[in-house]
Amino acid sequence: SLAERSGVSPARVAALRSEAEALYLGTRPKTRAAAGAAAHLFQGVPMHWMVDWSTPVPLVVAEATGARLTDVDGHGYDDFCLGDTAALFGHGPPPVAEAVSRQARRGLATMLPSPDAAAVGELLSARFGLPSWQVATTASDANRFALRVARAVTGRPRILVFDGAYHGAVDETFVGISANGRVTNRPGLLGEPRDLTLLARVVPFNDLDALETALADNTVACVITEPVMTNCAMVLPQPGFHEGLREITRRHGTLLLIDETHTLSTGPGGYTGAHGLAPDLFVVGKAIAGGIPAAVWGMSAELAGRLESARAGAPSGHSGMGTTLSGSPLQLAALRATLEHVATDEAYAHMDALATRLEAGLAAAIAQARLPWHVVRCGARVEVVRAPAPLINGGEAHGAHFAALEAAIHLALLVRGVLISPFHDMMLASPATTQAQVDNLIAATGDVIRRLVD
Ligand code: PMP
Repeated sequence: SLAERSGVSPARVAALRSEAEALYLGTRPKTRAAAGAAAHLFQGVPMHWMVDWSTPVPLVVAEATGARLTDVDGHGYDDFCLGDTAALFGHGPPPVAEAVSRQARRGLATMLPSPDAAAVGELLSARFGLPSWQVATTASDANRFALRVARAVTGRPRILVFDGAYHGAVDETFVGISANGRVTNRPGLLGEPRDLTLLARVVPFNDLDALETALADNTVACVITEPVMTNCAMVLPQPGFHEGLREITRRHGTLLLIDETHTLSTGPGGYTGAHGLAPDLFVVGKAIAGGIPAAVWGMSAELAGRLESARAGAPSGHSGMGTTLSGSPLQLAALRATLEHVATDEAYAHMDALATRLEAGLAAAIAQARLPWHVVRCGARVEVVRAPAPLINGGEAHGAHFAALEAAIHLALLVRGVLISPFHDMMLASPATTQAQVDNLIAATGDVIRRLVD
């Protein structure tokens, strides 16, 4: 039962929810009016998943600066969601704001390089270690293009994803292991007539034996993975997992794509830099241009050479990689400002110290209430997991997910002036976040937990 597995009774969850909902609606007349006025947006929002947050009507943000939000009713929030990582370095970091406004007067979209292009290539190569880069507009796109490269150069049809992973709106990654152990298209995916499992394999994270078996017939072009799973709560790699993953993929001629879109929280060079990983393909999006839509994908020297040959050998025509606004002068200006002035060693030291403090404070609140939960962290990224012991794979993460409980907690935190990420319990510390904000979040969580258990 929910009570046994999450440590909280459904009645307590419902009470917390209705108390928070009444407070939310009762003190936000303009927010409610805004929802009523958005009749010509599908479901009243510019992007449909905005109605899936915990709020009875969407929070309408009037202003986001640093690590603070203000809604249209004038309520302020400490923002630990930070655009689900897009604002990992705070909202509108001043060097990015300055670069973007400067570039706006010199051209935003030319389909040609600007003088920032070469510098961005240098900065990416120095930071992440791979020598050859391309710019895309979203991490979803970057993953799509990187997977296309992998198939093009290997001539192999299949990709492999770990169960429970998320890599954006990338069709072929929407596969998973169902409750009865079968590999299937993921439930929830709309409009997909194809059986995606024909060209994708799925194995549990941290399971090197299953990986070995899945790669054995040498038909898999590429393994795509986050170095730490961050989209199904948080699953850390077990000792030896990354070494094994690299050894097995190499031995089978399968390329390795590391998607650092979320794990950029680890440090200046991502998890790859911090732990010396050696991917063939590397993707990072969201925060990499300080909140401007941009993503980058990098290749090893060997792979870049193979892609050159593949391009030279192909008839002329559309490659299936790239979009018109990719590599724009706007993106290059924002990438350069972020890499040179925002995502600095000092910024990461600040983020890491605050996230460490947050991890300890939340763990203490959970321990005091004797709840069967724990806290896990990946640099500036902190997650509360509703299971007593660390998760090993996506299946376990699925079992530790209690949607109604999480939504009630999120709304209860929101009316206490704190925003955390929706759909699971993720919190980020940015360079703009203060220790006082972290302490507010710890106190608010303690208060919410007491409502649930006392
Ligand atoms: N990769 C990972 C690991 C992600 O978590 C996400 C989005 N949550 C993406 C890629 C896709 O990013 P976007 O939605 O910006 O395309």
